[in-house]
Amino acid sequence: MRILRIAMVSGFGTSKGGYFSDVLLGLLCSDALALGHDAKMLRVYYDGTHRERDAEISQRLADWLLNEEIDLVVTDRVLDNSPFARWKAQRPASRMLLLPPPEGMASVPPADAALGFRPYERRRDHGEMGDEVRRAFAMWLAADLASAEEADIPGLSQVRHGRLQSPARSLLEATGSSLHFRPVVECEVISDSAITPAPYTVFGNGGCPYSRDVSQAAPYADLQLPEEDEILRKGCAFCTMGGDYDKRTNQETVASVLRQVSYLTEHLPKPHSFVLTDQHPLRYLTLLLERAEAEGIREVTWLLETRADWLVEHRAALEQSIAIAARTETRLQLYLVGFESFSNEDLERYNKGTTREILLAAADLVRELARLHPRHFGYTRDRGHSLILFHPWTSPSSLLESGETLRANGFSDFFYDITRNRLRLYPRLPVYSLAKSQGLVTDDWVGDEASQTARSKGYSVDIAWRFSDPRAAIAYEACRKLRNDLGGETEISQLVAVSRWSAGFPADETPEPDDAVGDLESALAKLSDRFGRLLQGSCGDRAAPVIFAGACNNACHGCENRDRFFPDDGESLQGRVDEAREKGLPVMLAGREPTLHPDFVPLIERARSEDERRVGVVTNGRRFAYGKFTAQAVRSGLSDVSVKVFAPTAELADRICRVEGAHAQAMAGIEKLVKVGVRMEMRVPLHASALDTLADFAELASSHRVGTIRVEVALDSLGLRNLARAETSLEQLEAACRERGVRLAVSPLPCGMRGFDRMPA
Ligand code: SF4
Repeated sequence: MRILRIAMVSGFGTSKGGYFSDVLLGLLCSDALALGHDAKMLRVYYDGTHRERDAEISQRLADWLLNEEIDLVVTDRVLDNSPFARWKAQRPASRMLLLPPPEGMASVPPADAALGFRPYERRRDHGEMGDEVRRAFAMWLAADLASAEEADIPGLSQVRHGRLQSPARSLLEATGSSLHFRPVVECEVISDSAITPAPYTVFGNGGCPYSRDVSQAAPYADLQLPEEDEILRKGCAFCTMGGDYDKRTNQETVASVLRQVSYLTEHLPKPHSFVLTDQHPLRYLTLLLERAEAEGIREVTWLLETRADWLVEHRAALEQSIAIAARTETRLQLYLVGFESFSNEDLERYNKGTTREILLAAADLVRELARLHPRHFGYTRDRGHSLILFHPWTSPSSLLESGETLRANGFSDFFYDITRNRLRLYPRLPVYSLAKSQGLVTDDWVGDEASQTARSKGYSVDIAWRFSDPRAAIAYEACRKLRNDLGGETEISQLVAVSRWSAGFPADETPEPDDAVGDLESALAKLSDRFGRLLQGSCGDRAAPVIFAGACNNACHGCENRDRFFPDDGESLQGRVDEAREKGLPVMLAGREPTLHPDFVPLIERARSEDERRVGVVTNGRRFAYGKFTAQAVRSGLSDVSVKVFAPTAELADRICRVEGAHAQAMAGIEKLVKVGVRMEMRVPLHASALDTLADFAELASSHRVGTIRVEVALDSLGLRNLARAETSLEQLEAACRERGVRLAVSPLPCGMRGFDRMPA
């Protein structure tokens, strides 16, 4: 037998690794070693945002494959095929196997074979943990990697004429007794930054039991769909998992999961964190945790995925499971809840079988359970929760509706990659047939960025489509641009700003996305440069923010402080104050309007504590107009105040915060605060309607004996069409401040209105 040098290669689109699992590769590696081959695991982490860095990673991968003289690469995701092409060019006898075959059997050169089920073969027919794949792989190794024709290996498909041929024999024929679970967990790593090891995956049941037939969804009612074996009618219309679930008893599933966990807890260092791959774990979670407790499995974090509506339906089981978790120092972490959209129209198009109202109820339930059981249940640490805002039917108005729903519900706690996700179309999906029937499927993508997305995330390359509303194409590119440049902190604000901006283009005469986004890019670059320069001179000691997420007595247009939900009860805030104090920095109370919170004064005292820590507040200043309240706050330790002033004149400021008399009250508050000697700054959120009078803030500040102005930008209250004006107005404000000896500071653009980590200078 020829001893093969085999590399099990798993690629990750970001240095965070995400939730893609390489357990099956680990099992195949263990099988190959047991057969006497020289096999090893390799994880390759791309950066995902810098092409040069990713090119260098690919170069290192190609070098590794050549230096290791690899004969066979087995991989489940090809993010960049160039390193494999280089390796194969210099080792033409080597082979490359894909697991499983990509959607649509599209070939992924230079892979020359794939192992998996035929497109219409369903999970419920095969065994657990990829046993068929492992048996077929062992047969292929025994046949010295012979071609499918020669070796007749079940599930093995070859590339012919650039396309993967459907396997001659079904993988279902690779039968036998169930195999051990001893995956190789050690692996070599190629990456250019420190890696956060991804939680290890354990197999629950494959597939998904959600099986609503797509014909029940209105958009498909009259649609002529392909034959049964060519399309996945059941389940969500964009997903290949629906209507097909392993049919095992809960006892069997639980026994299998615990067998895997007991092996992994022995072979992996603590802390133990496992992704339970199962779309519906709630049906057996209580039993699993009871059995784990009985077997002494403790201090484990279980990462769970589920439909949102099943959380509401199985609330009792979830609460029971949390109770068991509390007994065994275990944590249940929701990492992937399928929301997809908060528009009922979208949900019907996705055949999601649920409604916006149920999704909102599920979010409230999860938040409540996390507030009640912070140590044993959560949903924010691993935010893989899914939202698909960009699809062929997206329009500026649907984006605005989504953005406003996300803001009104503070959904930044759930979603991390709001604007980066877009619908992926594959031939077997009903949503593909729907798009095709409306002429929205295209031969190629407009611009190549979009096509890279699926691949850069490690998905099979999908079918190109176009937006029915061309302004949505501009919105998509603009969102990607802002997200890449400004990061995720203000993603909801970016989305709302882009939806309003893209709605401003004539639908019948829409410019090319590159042109429109090009203009936006240069305006943003100029404003970023000015902010960059002012940031260097910006002052104020670093602070540890404590976020309030409750009431506010203003109603400012474009307030970003609603974008992220936080439990706002006294106990949760006390916890956040203690966490902030642990950083050893001054404490800044901020977000919404902290002065309205019933525990505001006790929280100041808690933040100040024995070591008399400096305590600041970011506020609209209105409550400080009341001398008694100001005195009480200062007595309890308040030393610094950053007062938001929305415009230099009352008429304009009141119009922005939509409260008559708010500006006068804020200025009265500033008067009181200056009188009692607290350290002050005037905080100026850039607003479109205040740009022409921005320079007047210098006079306003100096006339109220306030030494510093700190400017911050919420993109949607500024408006993307005003970036250039903002840059000019800022220049004028800079000159006016210099003239009056007022310090001008700024919050970094990526922070938007939530740059709370600086005390007044
Ligand atoms: S999206 Fe989720 S719920 Fe829908 S079919 Fe797929 S796995 Fe099931």
